[in-house]
Amino acid sequence: MKSHRKELWFQTPGRRAYINITPAVSAEVRASGITEGMVLVNAMHITASVFINDDEHGLHSDFERWLEKLAPEKPHNQYAHNGYEDNADAHLKRQIMGREVVVAITAGSLDLGPWEQIFYGEFDGKRRKRVLVKIIGE
Ligand code: ZN
Repeated sequence: MKSHRKELWFQTPGRRAYINITPAVSAEVRASGITEGMVLVNAMHITASVFINDDEHGLHSDFERWLEKLAPEKPHNQYAHNGYEDNADAHLKRQIMGREVVVAITAGSLDLGPWEQIFYGEFDGKRRKRVLVKIIGE
């Protein structure tokens, strides 16, 4: 079995962002030389997510509004976690949107459904954060 590990780094200008990382993950699959296997893609931070969904701008606006209804950022003092920090909403948003995805690799490519794309979801940005890409197979 072969394996390949890569960290993808991000620093978003705003607090929240959705970034399509499918091309970067595909590039790592190619770099790994693995043609049959699995790729794990996970946020390495507890205020960011990796998830799969449609690359459609309206949907991303819908995510933003939905998450703000469930876990509004402000007022910061509504959360027990806030005090030294102000990112309780980001922890909650990450919990809903998930930590990681696993995608099959078939014939050297990501074996995604027709509209599936892999996203990095940032909920507490403006600092350097990373995503782990771990590929195993042969
Ligand atoms: Zn925190």
